[in-house]
Amino acid sequence: MESLNLKCRAKINLSIDVLGKRADNYHLVEMIMQTIDLYDNVNIEEIDSGIIIDSDNEYVPTDSSNIAYKAADLIKRKFNINKGVKISINKNIPVAAGLAGGSTNAAAVLVGLNKMWDLKLTEDNLMELGLQLGADVPFCILGGAAVAEGIGEKLTRIEGLESVKILICKPDILVSTKWVYENLDINGLSKRPNTKNILNNLKENDVQALAKNMCNVLESVTENEYTQIKEIKKKMIEHHALGSMMSGSGPTVFGIFDNLDCAQKAKEELKQLYKQTYLVNTYKGGIEIEG
Ligand code: ATP
Repeated sequence: MESLNLKCRAKINLSIDVLGKRADNYHLVEMIMQTIDLYDNVNIEEIDSGIIIDSDNEYVPTDSSNIAYKAADLIKRKFNINKGVKISINKNIPVAAGLAGGSTNAAAVLVGLNKMWDLKLTEDNLMELGLQLGADVPFCILGGAAVAEGIGEKLTRIEGLESVKILICKPDILVSTKWVYENLDINGLSKRPNTKNILNNLKENDVQALAKNMCNVLESVTENEYTQIKEIKKKMIEHHALGSMMSGSGPTVFGIFDNLDCAQKAKEELKQLYKQTYLVNTYKGGIEIEG
């Protein structure tokens, strides 16, 4: 096999709690992750040697700092592979957005190369390798919906959100994940999620309650610095979103809608202000190999 096309999807967080810090400074988290149907197309082509990255998005690095490059490098070194790859990333997922765009590209490369080079790695093997690249990579391989614990790597599959529309809106600001965590005062949090309650809401498919209970402790840090977050949330609620919250460390804000008309109207209005606005469904799977 010489070439493969993959679809790799973004995630949102339905809750994020930060429980503490490990000795190595990694934060211990409890998060509910949900895959959404907003995807990048990744093409992997076998070449004679080396790793080449190509992207249609100017904000995606094409050198060895690209996490997709790191994924290919990891596989090549671990399995002593002499062949090379050209990885072309067609971006639809906003970059540096809190949507795991880079992580899902890396997940696609691991899944794709496993198939292309017949490495016979199981999903668990791939997730273990993914963790060496970033805490969100294992979830991107698993997909669907899951609770993430530890530093994000202990994943338990759950029933996700269904039959709702998710409106994604990424304001044009750059937020560093490192900065958000550095400015988070774990002991001074005024509001934290009750993860068990939210999981029950999901189990009972009680979207109204879930939308009210959603909470992301990172939101206060980003919201205090950038007024756009609150403004977008307000607009979503004005348009009858059941709930609206920031994903990851931001700056993307999402809204959950049970009414398509309302969601479309909200999209039209927000798109006038923020170009990167998308109305999507949730998605049940992980990385998709096409054809
Ligand atoms: P997460 O939700 O996992 O924190 P994110 O959505 O906030 O991820 P990314 O889109 O992964 O953020 O991008 C973060 C940074 O990583 C970007 O500023 C970019 O320079 C770099 N990067 C490296 N590889 C990629 C990639 N394949 N796609 C996008 N950005 C990448």
